[in-house]
Amino acid sequence: MRRIALFALCCGLLAPSSRAEEAKGLSEEAFAYVGGATLSMFYHELGHALIDTMDLPLYGPEEDAADTLAAVMSHMIWNEDGARRNARAFAQSWLASAAESEVGPEDYANAHALDLQRHYRQVCLFYGASPETRADFAEEFALPPARAENCEEEYAQADRSWGELLRERGEVEGERLVWSGPTADLTKDPIAALLAQEVEDVNEVFSQTEEISVRIQACGEANAFYKPEEKSVVICREFVDYLTDQAEEMGF
Ligand SMILES: [Zn+2]
Repeated sequence: MRRIALFALCCGLLAPSSRAEEAKGLSEEAFAYVGGATLSMFYHELGHALIDTMDLPLYGPEEDAADTLAAVMSHMIWNEDGARRNARAFAQSWLASAAESEVGPEDYANAHALDLQRHYRQVCLFYGASPETRADFAEEFALPPARAENCEEEYAQADRSWGELLRERGEVEGERLVWSGPTADLTKDPIAALLAQEVEDVNEVFSQTEEISVRIQACGEANAFYKPEEKSVVICREFVDYLTDQAEEMGF
């Protein structure tokens, strides 16, 4: 029987400080940022994968549901330091992305919420999962009080949907996530190493209904995808590079 207590043991081993020495070329802060944002995007894409492979019903936009899974997974499977790292990185990445571009009609028409909305939603969910211990996080990102007062209920709703599903998948045997590359020595590729380890750790705490492959590869754009036709999650190498450039611009 796998329970949340096991979740807490799992990925805390990957606390950024313990991996920083492997992050050739990245400062500890930069590794925390790039790694945290990459993992959060991986969880987002895994949300699409679960919606597809489990044929989950949706009562709202799929992109919002996938972002919600990212927040719930990080809270459930990481210890506090790791969860903070992921939440901070994801929130910072949406802030940075929002600062880089002006919002136009195509953004309002996009299936994704606006970058700043995604930012505040991540801050709200992370804070709402434990308001008594994470008030400083809400304060750091200037979460407006009018939103903050509902965040505990917002996270509770997320826990009743994704959280319940993850707990159920932690109780049953099933299929696995499969790391599909790069597969060579990853000591010089710390973000790929982090993601490959995360795939293994996720397999330790819950199962899939179908095998889902996960890889980092060049795709010609700074993005990430779930490909339903091949049941695979792809984090583009260019997305990792984009985050790395952002980290440098942030002074990490
Ligand atoms: Zn998406």
